[in-house]
Amino acid sequence: MQKRRSVSQRETVLPENVDDADISPQKLNAFSERVVEWYKKHGRKNLLWRRTKDPWKVLVAAFLLRKTTSKQVEKIYLDFLMRFPTPADVQKSSEEEIKSIIRPLGIENQRARHLKKIASIIMHEFNGKIPCSKERLKKLPGVGDYIAAEVLLAACGKPEPLLDRNMIRVIERFFGIRSSKKRPHTDPELWRFAKKLVPESADVAKDFNYGVLDLAQTVCTAKNPNCGKCPLADLCSYVCRAENEER
Ligand code: SF4
Repeated sequence: MQKRRSVSQRETVLPENVDDADISPQKLNAFSERVVEWYKKHGRKNLLWRRTKDPWKVLVAAFLLRKTTSKQVEKIYLDFLMRFPTPADVQKSSEEEIKSIIRPLGIENQRARHLKKIASIIMHEFNGKIPCSKERLKKLPGVGDYIAAEVLLAACGKPEPLLDRNMIRVIERFFGIRSSKKRPHTDPELWRFAKKLVPESADVAKDFNYGVLDLAQTVCTAKNPNCGKCPLADLCSYVCRAENEER
């Protein structure tokens, strides 16, 4: 059984539907364990950025993956790293050079500008090293909670949740809870709750996070979730509710 911080129902003070939430320790354990097992069998373990602990490679991937698909990023990721293997290489380059590689992803002007600024801050303020601190990472332009969490998780060995709309959807459905915020990915309560779900071991924490994201994209999709193929179905509040409504 994976070690995880304990969580009690009283701690999950998510404002809406809290009374409906079924958050027993068994359910919490089952969520993490089944997602990790599912990831081992069905996850996209070959994505290049999931196979590195190099902070620059992780940061570049997380940054490029914003507002685009992994398929698109895969097309240019290696070219980018070959041309810019370190933040110093980005700092020395022109925006035009950066744009020539990232153009297929779109919004290349803004991305190139941000990458130049990111490289400059890393070189001048962080002594050329990417910090393992959420606060410091968020000083980089274009880097919010999610990208910072990805660097901490994949490069710093910290068990952070990658709480984007995909993970939020799975958590809300499975546990029968809902954030009251218009932008749930900025809800500190949801971040705290998600953090308690992440296994403590660094490697298992990665499998867990990537597992939730892959499950969200392939099984627990926004429309028409494929609950018949889901390893969580027998404990899922969404399914239970649907079944109850049918009775
Ligand atoms: S059982 Fe269905 S709704 Fe619940 S987590 Fe799985 S796919 Fe999503």
